[in-house]
Amino acid sequence: MIEHDVVIIGAGLAGMRCALEASKELDVAVLTKVYPSRSHSGAAQGGIAASLGNSEPDSWEEHMYDTVKGGDFLNDQDAVEEYVKAAPRIIYELEHMGCVFSRTPDGKIAQRKFGGHSKPRACFSADRTGHAILHALHEQLMKNAKSVKIYNEWYMHSLIIDGDRCNGVVVSNIQTGEVEVIRAKAVVFCTGGYGRVYKITSNAFASTADGVIAAFEVGIPLEDPEFVQFHPSGLFRQGILFSEAARGEGAYLLNGKGERFMENYAPSRMELAPRDIVSRAEQSEIDAGRGVNGEDCIHLDLPHLGEARILERLPQIRQLGIDFLGIDCITDPIPIQPTAHYSMGGIPVDKFCHVILDAEGTKMNGFFAAGECACVSVHGGNRLGTNSLLDAVVFGERAGKSVLEYARGKDFGNVNEGQEKTKVLEKFEDVFQRDGSESYKDIREDMKEIMMSHCGVFRDEKKLKVCIDTLKELQVRFKKGKVTDKGKIFNTEIYEIMELGNMLRMSEVIAEAALYRQESRGGHSRTDFPKRDDEKFLHHSMVYDSPDGFVIKTKPVVITKYPVTERTY
Ligand SMILES: Cc1cc2nc3c(=O)[nH]c(=O)nc-3n(C[C@H](O)[C@H](O)[C@H](O)COP(=O)(O)OP(=O)(O)OC[C@H]3O[C@@H](n4cnc5c(N)ncnc54)[C@H](O)[C@@H]3O)c2cc1C
Repeated sequence: MIEHDVVIIGAGLAGMRCALEASKELDVAVLTKVYPSRSHSGAAQGGIAASLGNSEPDSWEEHMYDTVKGGDFLNDQDAVEEYVKAAPRIIYELEHMGCVFSRTPDGKIAQRKFGGHSKPRACFSADRTGHAILHALHEQLMKNAKSVKIYNEWYMHSLIIDGDRCNGVVVSNIQTGEVEVIRAKAVVFCTGGYGRVYKITSNAFASTADGVIAAFEVGIPLEDPEFVQFHPSGLFRQGILFSEAARGEGAYLLNGKGERFMENYAPSRMELAPRDIVSRAEQSEIDAGRGVNGEDCIHLDLPHLGEARILERLPQIRQLGIDFLGIDCITDPIPIQPTAHYSMGGIPVDKFCHVILDAEGTKMNGFFAAGECACVSVHGGNRLGTNSLLDAVVFGERAGKSVLEYARGKDFGNVNEGQEKTKVLEKFEDVFQRDGSESYKDIREDMKEIMMSHCGVFRDEKKLKVCIDTLKELQVRFKKGKVTDKGKIFNTEIYEIMELGNMLRMSEVIAEAALYRQESRGGHSRTDFPKRDDEKFLHHSMVYDSPDGFVIKTKPVVITKYPVTERTY
């Protein structure tokens, strides 16, 4: 049995920042199924928010208000306040760690506009911000290699729970196929989002809900899973992100008639309204037959920004347009469509990143979560652009501090190594022995298709019920799949099947919660309940697993500074 004081699953921004903090005193393991610098955080383009006020006067209060209004008042405001207050310090710390930010002519950290933010607040490294931060943190971890061991290309299968305490995880080495138990005083999940359940998504292949479902399977509820963010500018048919930074720099959205249609949806903010509003506007134009050339896409127009500005500020996304669509945004508009991008919901945690089991805040001892897999909830019903990198770094650091506090002087808990290993080995065997007629690839595609068409930007009861029935059928088909590679060494097929199992489960949770929430708020839009209903639904949803199916309970929203008002832009 392997032993570490702390095991952190995930090496994105949240996992690495957590490791830096916890390794000040403890023996830390970071385990990740992809090499750390391949974590999805590295794909982040546009920026990281902080009220530095480098180009216009700004304050944490304004950052907080924008965040709460952007989240359609479902955010827990006590957590939001601490998070936006921490932002400037976090940015300067990253800078001192070696993260290279773009600059103003007088040498300050440059800040650009982003949707839903009333001030230019996004600190950026051209359009490769996630890459710059991820590499700076990775370097710091390497420097600390004495107290941090990184398990590269290892897969976490399940949590080890003893009553109200988490004592470790069961994992396997993807290279050798060996299953191992890691006993730890504290486990931290930083496993990222689950956008891969959708057909059109900006998310990396690794964003498959493994962590969230591992928690769900040991009785932890999932908070607000119905809130999935669709980003307005995914490359047409590909979903690959074309950063909001383009609109931040001044790009326009045009429908098939060449009209700047945002005038009709958010006249004061236009293209820089929050993402849920812009995505719905695009989808409405497409559904009304005003897409470009009658297709399911809209034009994002940049040529008026000029070649010099595009090359300086947006070089990566320009290249993405050329590589994936054959279109150069310096001369031509880019066809785009809404793409599944971010999960506002996730594993419920208190503001110290301790995983909780209910509305009363009962803790699962020794279990923490941070970053996109967790729901604090600072983003409420809709996250503003650039607030997520900030979330991952602020709460990654916090999780590290909480773990230090928790694990100091603690003993290891009880772990029955043989029993825990057997459970996972049986899961492997079960998949290996399947010799059915179904193709996992088809099941995956059918899942993505139904989630996109029936649980996407717009939802209603009829569609959601069809979606849930289809997912149940897919679960049956999943049991009758066929594995072609039966080897142990680098068997990526078997891991893809396990990820698919997690995604099918996650899809059901999203669709059930979407059916439950009979209102429209933030990223969750029901055409049969088009208004926000504060009387009935101003609460978080908490979805539990039970032998009789899903049970949905509620958790109050923490409102401190900003009372709930109508949300208009
Ligand atoms: C294309 C794109 C652009 C974005 N741009 C921005 C932006 O400009 N600004 C902003 O604020 N936000 C942006 N976001 C959102 C933001 O990047 C993410 O929310 C954030 O980086 C998530 O960080 P994380 O540390 O929680 O997880 P991730 O970076 O996703 O890392 C997850 C980690 O978990 C590991 N893992 C998962 N499952 C397992 C398992 N079973 N076993 C072992 N390891 C596992 C993975 O290997 C990985 O290391 C963007 C997102 C995308 C997709």
